Amino acid sequence: MKKRTKVILGALGAAAAANCVHAAVYKPEKKTAIALQPETCDAERACERISQALQIPTISHPDKAKVDWSQFDRFHRFLEESYPLIHEKLEKEVVTDANLLFYWKGKNPDLEPIALLSHQDVVPVAPGTEEDWTYPAFSGHNDGEFIWGRGALDMKNHLIGVMEAVETLLEEGFEPERDVYLCFGCDEEVVGSENGGAKAMATLLAERGVHLDSVLDEGGAILPVHVKGFFDGYLAGVGIAEKGYADFEISLETKGGHSSQPPKHSGLGEMAKVISDLENHQFKAQVMPFLTDLFDTIGRKSSYPARLVLCNFPLLMPLVREVMKQIPPAASLIRSTTGVTMASGSPAANVLPQNASIVVNFRAMPGTSIADIEKHIHKVVRNKKIIVKTLKSKEASRFSSTDSRAFRVIESVTTANHPDAAVAPFLVMGGTDACYYEGICDHVYRFSPFIADTKLLLCTHGTDERLPVDSVGEAVVFFKRYIRALASE
Ligand SMILES: [Zn+2]
Repeated sequence: MKKRTKVILGALGAAAAANCVHAAVYKPEKKTAIALQPETCDAERACERISQALQIPTISHPDKAKVDWSQFDRFHRFLEESYPLIHEKLEKEVVTDANLLFYWKGKNPDLEPIALLSHQDVVPVAPGTEEDWTYPAFSGHNDGEFIWGRGALDMKNHLIGVMEAVETLLEEGFEPERDVYLCFGCDEEVVGSENGGAKAMATLLAERGVHLDSVLDEGGAILPVHVKGFFDGYLAGVGIAEKGYADFEISLETKGGHSSQPPKHSGLGEMAKVISDLENHQFKAQVMPFLTDLFDTIGRKSSYPARLVLCNFPLLMPLVREVMKQIPPAASLIRSTTGVTMASGSPAANVLPQNASIVVNFRAMPGTSIADIEKHIHKVVRNKKIIVKTLKSKEASRFSSTDSRAFRVIESVTTANHPDAAVAPFLVMGGTDACYYEGICDHVYRFSPFIADTKLLLCTHGTDERLPVDSVGEAVVFFKRYIRALASE
């Protein structure tokens, strides 16, 4: 063996030994827990209310004229009847259409208010799949194990959880020090634009000079993870940012004509080159600080072989980044993504297209703007005759810091219920109402405190959406503790 090889091997051995020592001593950080008091709730009542809420089909539609607003009126009446104290002690406003804003006045006007968000609307059941449901989609059937229905996870569970918590706190005579806002939009599922309910409510609060201490909305959940040799416990992902969204149409004007005398490349053939340019030039991958935080939190709770990798993440970052780039769900955490989703050419099989077009869906990392995406398209596509048009877009959010009292409360309340839970920050891929509150709040978190495994989460927006009955009481207690801890001082 050559001397140089020996030296390299020796160095690697020393590094490995150091890693082993690091991994062995690498334990969950002792953070100062927030003092929490025991809380109770009526879980059976909460389940009954969720079941009733699911029976009201508050389906939103991109065209407001097509919304059955009477269902939203019904939902408001149901809330009124179910939560008498909230309707007595809090101020209720309907802010354009059917958005609900509740205001709970605190005792100390010097403290910044907190806001709990949710949306009342649900997505429709895909036509033709109604019969595939185990129980009808708007039955709210409770079979003792699950409550079934559209909106069970997204997100009438969360809305009712918040209402139950506030009603119970009022029954117990709790008076918040801070103001508390409950903001329930009516169009989260369809809007993602400047005309939505969330934007209207956030604008109204801004006009009234409100600056929020923190916002809590949907986004993450409590995921049971049992992977031998890696992690055995709960992973509670708290969304601290969300990706941007953009649909771009890219088209080309071409000659057209009869398909019996085609050129070397038809319009669609030219478009195929555009697609390959886009797919071969992905956005640059970057490991953002939240990912180091995420791996660090999981690493501290994971078992030995995985801990060895995760706790040495900064050292192994270049390698991990390369591996992540190859796995689509992991890649989406480290770069803006490009998904070519639609294509169209001529209207007939024997006609060459005069116009060929594709639609590409981009999901932008925080820090990458919609304008940056358009620049990227023009840069990587070699055909400079392309016509690029934005169909729909929403900018990515900012990152909220994990160093806030609200984040520590989420962490403390979750680990009070599940001492083995890893509460980690992450990036939400889809859009939520939360980002519209960024203008009036620096600490925006996306977390729904319900236990749901990946199989269940995949039913969201699909067939057999359902909520585990067991998760309800714990979630109501979470919201009670969250409000009590944050609004008490
Ligand atoms: Zn939702």
